[in-house]
Amino acid sequence: MRGEYTGAGPSGRARRRRRRRGPSVWGLLMGAVILAAGVVLSSALGEKLPEETGRADKLAAQTRLPETGEPVLSLPPELPDWVRQDLLPVNEYSRPGTALEQVNGVVVHYVGNPGTTAEQNRSYFANLAQTHETWASSHFLIGIDGTVIQCVPLDEIAYCSTIRNEDTISIECCHPDDGGEFTEETMASLVRLLDWLISTYRLGREDVIRHYDVAGKECPRYYVRHPEAWEDILDALTFA
Ligand SMILES: [Zn+2]
Repeated sequence: MRGEYTGAGPSGRARRRRRRRGPSVWGLLMGAVILAAGVVLSSALGEKLPEETGRADKLAAQTRLPETGEPVLSLPPELPDWVRQDLLPVNEYSRPGTALEQVNGVVVHYVGNPGTTAEQNRSYFANLAQTHETWASSHFLIGIDGTVIQCVPLDEIAYCSTIRNEDTISIECCHPDDGGEFTEETMASLVRLLDWLISTYRLGREDVIRHYDVAGKECPRYYVRHPEAWEDILDALTFA
């Protein structure tokens, strides 16, 4: 169906880690609460649990940045109301359920399939669970009409940007023709979505990149062939 989605499958590390998601933050918090309750109870009984107490302290410390004491963003942020969430079913071809442990950038792509809608591309990703055609997905799809669909949660990896799957959020943009230029509506949504991600994850200009910048692939085509048009997108963004 398409040429854009290749080589985006699980890396060796991701493959090994699949289905081995670490405990959720709530799980950790509950663990800390249970440990604390245990310590209180055992103290009342005249007994100390030094090891467990140490672990509870460590858990509490892990939820803050050591230098500034600022809370670490570990739960996925609440989505803006202009993003429609339509998550893929968990499956090894498009949503492996592997934890995305850090977000160091955003990678912009084009779908490479002119005239298709965001919904059609989402179906393509979802159907990979049955077709096994390739490994592919993205966190977000933006339609020619500016529709924004979220396919993969922000605390899970998507299969989109090869070696950067493990530390980036991916955005696939639809386009009317083979040249790959985005419509005004797509561009407006892309800038809005990028601005939201930039402020949520405190990203800099150098963190917003093209698939081309990761893998040398001609993606997003128009913005690889016209680097000045890519610079125009970066110029339209708001960085802190
Ligand atoms: Zn791409």
